[in-house]
Amino acid sequence: MGTAHEPAASDHPGDAYDIVVLGGGSGGYACALRAAELGLRVALVEKDKLGGTCLHRGCIPTKALLHAAEVADTARHSHQFGVVATLDSIDLAQVHAYKDAVIGRLFKGLQGLVSSRDIDLVAGAGRVVTANTVLVGGRQLVGRHLVLATGSYARTLPGVEIGGAVVTSDQALALDRLPQRVVVLGGGVIGVEFASVFNSFGADVTIVEALPRLVAAEDEAIGKQLERAYRKRKITVRTNARVAGVQATDAGAVVELEDGGRLDADLVLVAVGRGPVSEGLGLEQIGVRTERGFVVTDERCRTSVTGVYAVGDLVPGLQVAHRGFAQGIFVAEDIAGLEPAPIDETGIPRVTYCEPEIASVGHTEARARELFGDVEVYEYNLGGNGKSQIVGTAGFVKLVRRTGGRVVGIHMIGTRMSEQIGEAQLIYNWDAVPDDVACLIHAHPTQNEALGEAHLALAGKPLHAHS
Ligand code: NAD
Repeated sequence: MGTAHEPAASDHPGDAYDIVVLGGGSGGYACALRAAELGLRVALVEKDKLGGTCLHRGCIPTKALLHAAEVADTARHSHQFGVVATLDSIDLAQVHAYKDAVIGRLFKGLQGLVSSRDIDLVAGAGRVVTANTVLVGGRQLVGRHLVLATGSYARTLPGVEIGGAVVTSDQALALDRLPQRVVVLGGGVIGVEFASVFNSFGADVTIVEALPRLVAAEDEAIGKQLERAYRKRKITVRTNARVAGVQATDAGAVVELEDGGRLDADLVLVAVGRGPVSEGLGLEQIGVRTERGFVVTDERCRTSVTGVYAVGDLVPGLQVAHRGFAQGIFVAEDIAGLEPAPIDETGIPRVTYCEPEIASVGHTEARARELFGDVEVYEYNLGGNGKSQIVGTAGFVKLVRRTGGRVVGIHMIGTRMSEQIGEAQLIYNWDAVPDDVACLIHAHPTQNEALGEAHLALAGKPLHAHS
């Protein structure tokens, strides 16, 4: 029960479970916890640490670094608020100690949770041998259902080798010294978050992005506003720039661009996307359909093989932990016969924790126009929001609605705006029209008011806004 143990061939000739889950990250452990709660017999196979990327190499450590970065900025800019403090230096060892302590506490909590739920946690690398059998070491786990939840890894570019001064987010989380000049390859979510951290820690940062704007999956206005904010922070942003190669040097590395440009760096962070962990699992042998390595599923997380499900980053779509949690829970409930409603991927909240923060849900303006034809758009500038002025942030709340109808997209940017995603996702997922929100009272002075005011304006009764 609970604690991980080494598989032993002899005493486990073929354990039978309702569900065998391969991978103990966000998707896998959520599935195991919910399944156990529903009385199903579950084996959870993990080759490394329970908690996966999110807890050990992703969400939690990066957000701890971003918080330390925010503290540095607060000290640096304290005089603006009449508080005289100086930022002496960043003690990187202490930053890591703080970050690792956060991870340690959560890891302990998660282990306790899994061991309290009667889940058979099996340590080792699992390999699928039939649609209902997983081999771990010498042990055979037989499940009525198999859930693939092996996650993703940090990709690199062809010809760009990871090592030394060239790192992915995995190594960037454990640097032993702070680099002075950083080049970030890729201006997606990971790229802009790390650029934010390194800039706050005092480095000279350049982002190289192949597409015309940063965070290209977000609404166009968000990318533009982030670029403006980054230029103000003295982060160099090179969009429409493709990398031709990266060469190691004695001092670090040189990034060569296709336009002939060269960028010297102490550290090059490769943040060009995450690929699926699907090789060597035995998926081809049992006929699971994949595309570029990602496992293809229907809206009920079912793969092409009966009884085999897949959840999380392994499945094409938004690669965020809370999608993994939701899919894991969905699959457990589906197997238990609760007939849960499929997850609306567009209703999954998206947050990027750079400074300024980005939070969005629903469709971008461009996508909404493709889907619905005419749409109405309203942008509420945080210049009219008291708390945002107190905090000292620029930004906006942008609403997209079907003409005369429901709100189909909410896009926000500004310091601390991540916390506004809660109400925003209710508005989108509960099919609200602007009047539904305009009649709710939003507390003053909060940044949350900006959401209320944006809806007031769209409902035709603006307060602190020109409309
Ligand atoms: P991404 O897909 O978000 O961004 C990668 C960027 O690299 C893209 O903008 C792409 O155009 C660019 N790129 C690709 N090849 C390039 C080249 N040769 N030269 C220059 N630019 C190039 O991927 P990511 O930032 O690595 O993140 C991986 C996944 O992890 C994403 O799905 C992301 O959503 C997820 N993630 C989410 C969060 C969060 O929700 N806060 C945090 C971290 C990661």
